[in-house]
Amino acid sequence: MFQVKNEIVVEKAVLVAVETQKQDRAHTTEYLKELEFLALTAGAEVKKSFIQRLEIPNPKTYVGTGKLNDVSEFIQKENIDVAIFDDELSPSQIRNLENTLSCRIIDRSTLILDIFARNARTTRAKTQVDLAQSQYLLPRLTRMWTHLEKQRGGIGMRGPGEKEIETDRRVIRDKISRLQKKLEAIDRQSVTQRKSRGNEIRIALVGYTNVGKSSLMNRLSKSDVLAENKLFATLDSTVRKVVIQDPQDPYAAPMVLLFSDTVGFIRKLPHQLIESFKSTLDEIKEADVLIHVVDLSHPAFEDQMAIVDDTLHEIGASDTAKILVFNKIDAYDPSPTSDDIFEDETIYTVEEFKKMWIAKRPEPVVFISALENTNINELRDRIAEVVKMHVRKR
Ligand code: GDP
Ligand code: MG
Repeated sequence: MFQVKNEIVVEKAVLVAVETQKQDRAHTTEYLKELEFLALTAGAEVKKSFIQRLEIPNPKTYVGTGKLNDVSEFIQKENIDVAIFDDELSPSQIRNLENTLSCRIIDRSTLILDIFARNARTTRAKTQVDLAQSQYLLPRLTRMWTHLEKQRGGIGMRGPGEKEIETDRRVIRDKISRLQKKLEAIDRQSVTQRKSRGNEIRIALVGYTNVGKSSLMNRLSKSDVLAENKLFATLDSTVRKVVIQDPQDPYAAPMVLLFSDTVGFIRKLPHQLIESFKSTLDEIKEADVLIHVVDLSHPAFEDQMAIVDDTLHEIGASDTAKILVFNKIDAYDPSPTSDDIFEDETIYTVEEFKKMWIAKRPEPVVFISALENTNINELRDRIAEVVKMHVRKR
């Protein structure tokens, strides 16, 4: 049964993951933690996680028969509402799992799309999510969507298009082309809008999700951008003016910079979503300076940095001027803990990290705490320097 608490539907969930040979236990644990966080963001409480070591996921049922029986028993005994699978499931895997398990089946992609759907605010974001959801749904139209029409709500069932869960492929196809046209029109309009911003220097905050981009934006601009300990609290990029004084020249007119707070990156993003979000990434592509924010207190921050660097490379923003910002230094704990999943790795102090990263990267590196307002002035100075260099180049 659903239990409504602060308007959020709390559902009981299990997670199911496959650990391939390429992936060690520490990484599986890390991915599952993230999946649990995603589930929590979407309104589900994880009761148990099941992991199976397999060379590749089972093409019929994702995990093997034995493991599936364990999952099935637990679902019945604990009255589980939803089983969440760590990878994208094929239409036939979904069908087979539906026949075996007595609860709703969703995969990582559905979960992420659901969170995006819930957080979409602007017409553009809503259209983008609606399009991605429709594209995901098209090859997967199954019984699931018809019988669920009667009990709408819950994870995977929300979205701008939730009132019209069509069962007809033709209807969905028409809808997809309609949404694509709508999106093109919106994009044309925002290109014009961006052009009209004229000669102002544009800075984009980029980084993995939940690293503190919105919090830093708030610090720098004293604005009120939503900052939440949830994945993707915001979807749309928010643009704010930030005024910075050149530290070398306190009498010069202050620089007026346009900052945009962009959507966070995450592993295993559904490809339908990446496609439909390309235009959101334009904000990053067209920025003069990128501030890459990293959460130093996260055990997998280096993996997260790599995902961001790869994505920037993919969209052609590798050569843009950058500043690397390590955030949450207040929460970084250099002492090894019992639940430290990367226990083989050397533990560094913040000072050691500073030396290491400054030597490693060509761009300016700053260590801050957006929460406690630490080294924010140092960051302002670095921004001023990079901007001055950039303006000279223009
Ligand atoms: P975003 O997803 O990158 O925009 O991240 P948010 O700005 O929404 O922040 C995510 C969470 O991290 C929130 O709970 C913030 O309060 C928290 N946070 C942000 N900066 C810091 C920091 O410097 N230290 C600590 N301890 N928490 C922070
Ligand atoms: Mg944010």
